[in-house]
Amino acid sequence: MDLLISDVTKQRLGQAKRVVVLTGAGISAASGIPTFRGENGLWTKLAPQELASFEGFYRNTAVVSEWYKHRRDIIEVCQPNAAHTTLVELEKLVAEFTLITQNIDGLHQRAGSQDVIELHGTIMQNYCTRCNRQYSVAEFAQIYNRSSNHVPRCFCGGIVRPNVVWFGESLPVAAYERAYKASMQAEVFLAIGTSAQVRPAADLPMIAKEQGAYLIEINIVKTVLTPHADLFLEGAADKILPQFNREYQSLLANV
Ligand code: NAD
Ligand code: ZN
Repeated sequence: MDLLISDVTKQRLGQAKRVVVLTGAGISAASGIPTFRGENGLWTKLAPQELASFEGFYRNTAVVSEWYKHRRDIIEVCQPNAAHTTLVELEKLVAEFTLITQNIDGLHQRAGSQDVIELHGTIMQNYCTRCNRQYSVAEFAQIYNRSSNHVPRCFCGGIVRPNVVWFGESLPVAAYERAYKASMQAEVFLAIGTSAQVRPAADLPMIAKEQGAYLIEINIVKTVLTPHADLFLEGAADKILPQFNREYQSLLANV
């Protein structure tokens, strides 16, 4: 199979020293973790504002805590897929490689990516909304199991929440600054498995494009980003990325 990497793409890719990748929930779909949007997306079944906002958490702490525990349980038994491991390989081929993710599942790190910019936090950590004490998965399990009503409470009495960015909350400043800077300087930008609807993460591909980057998108369906992509690779990330990498490697061998 040839990925239709055109001569223009070959030229832009072959010369690129700075490559930035932005991943979304779609990259983990093949690992068995449901996306939010799209077919079988979680938002088709559950109301986003209730489950992923601080107001919703405050109103229904037990339900939201249970939902996150359920998602954490799923993620813990899932394994990184070929798309995650291909990005570990890709990093080795590029002089300056930046991996930015909107995912909270930690699968990039489990695949072996050393330096991942997590824009939306991680579901594997929790923290106290009163004293800020951090809880690992194991520590959180202890306080969660101890609570009689599924409301996890810190030793200080405060409610403990997942370390993820909810609707209406700001992104971690340092992470976003790094992501923004890298996007500004990217020569090639790959957007993988993201519906590009959650801002400001969704702005990054366009920022890169406006600064002259060559924009490549991988998704099973077209998105709002597709009309701006220089190359749209339609298909599942775990199938497309390994093929992309093979072609990229042979391209580099011939440069
Ligand atoms: P999204 O759910 O809005 O969109 C997922 C995108 O992936 C869709 O465009 C869909 O067509 C595409 N997709 C589905 N299967 C794919 C596949 N096999 N290969 C390639 N693309 C595929 O996800 P998003 O854009 O990341 O939305 C942002 C929010 O969703 C983030 O805040 C993120 O924290 C959260 N989220 C994370 C996870 C996770 O960590 N795995 C899971 C669900 C949601
Ligand atoms: Zn506390």
